[in-house]
Amino acid sequence: MDTRTIEGGLMTSSGRGVDLSVVVPMFNEQDVLPLFYLRLRSALDQLDISYEVVAVDDGSRDGTAQLTQSARADWPQLRLVRLLRNSGHQAAIGAGLERSRGDYAVTIDADLQDPPEAIGPMYSMARDRNLDVVYGVRKDRSSDSWAKRTSAHLYYRLMRRLVGPQLPTDAGDFRLMSRRVLRAVESQPQNGRIYRLIVPWLGFPSESYGYVRDPRAAGSTKYPLSRLLRLAWDSVTAFSAAPLRLATWIGGLSAVACVALIVAVFFAEESGRTVPGWASTMIVVMGLGAVQLICVGLLGEYVARIFTTIQARPTYSVGYDSQDEERRDRDELMVVEPEPAVRPPAGT
Ligand code: UDP
Ligand code: MG
Repeated sequence: MDTRTIEGGLMTSSGRGVDLSVVVPMFNEQDVLPLFYLRLRSALDQLDISYEVVAVDDGSRDGTAQLTQSARADWPQLRLVRLLRNSGHQAAIGAGLERSRGDYAVTIDADLQDPPEAIGPMYSMARDRNLDVVYGVRKDRSSDSWAKRTSAHLYYRLMRRLVGPQLPTDAGDFRLMSRRVLRAVESQPQNGRIYRLIVPWLGFPSESYGYVRDPRAAGSTKYPLSRLLRLAWDSVTAFSAAPLRLATWIGGLSAVACVALIVAVFFAEESGRTVPGWASTMIVVMGLGAVQLICVGLLGEYVARIFTTIQARPTYSVGYDSQDEERRDRDELMVVEPEPAVRPPAGT
């Protein structure tokens, strides 16, 4: 059961909050923000629905938060949530989604690679066809570099094996979800929660909406190769125990190879050929050492995961939410009616 209280603002017939929440993770995006807000606002104002934009400032060190605060002055639906430190793209999305109030929520990058104009059609698709998830799927990745396209292709092939065939190819984090899906996601542990895997895995009714991914409008990517590799590694180890089995397979194969080698050495000895023993011994010792190290490393990865899950440390901490401030202001303005004095009936 959802026990969270309804946090102020526009109310809809469903009683929860607004029709649509737009969650935008932002890390040092001051160069693109003015244009992004302009396009997002004109796209959302055209829709005849109540909405909120949850801008999650993921510990930016530039003017992202200041720009958002000043944009709020004449855009009441814009809300700013600031994380205390840079917590990463997925954690920022999580912070925004968990604080969102919409019957539906869509996550979109701030760099205009995902067109805000697609939100309207995605929302209508979900409403008209009774869908819980609408994936924004890149029709063409020509704006990405060759390295990024190739690594993405490999990533999706691998993930499809782990998650299942329902994983849409080339669906990033531009995705619309119903409140039902958000509740299901929230019931999963927060650590290692990778939305692009967990949402398809849940298996709610879904469809894809194709769009052309534009190049970044301004600023530079916040996903260097090291972070991409981290995401791929996390995706595998957070989602499945398959690598543990892989280690067992490698171990098994090397054991077989070892037995074969022993037999070969035995026959070589029998036929009187001298064996240069030192080299083969070294190879076996080193080979087995490597296999053991791989296995120990993989075990360590999972033990670390158990450790962090048991610690249940939050993946992000919110330092500020413009909505809390608005609520405080409203509470202060609220006139409290004085209770009528109750006099005890005479004679008792
Ligand atoms: N982002 C974030 N925290 C981070 C890194 C990125 O909130 O630590 C945001 C970023 O501001 C952008 C989105 O995540 O809105 C996607 O990042 P980016 O466009 O740099 O990634 P790319 O499209 O190059 O993969
Ligand atoms: Mg981008």
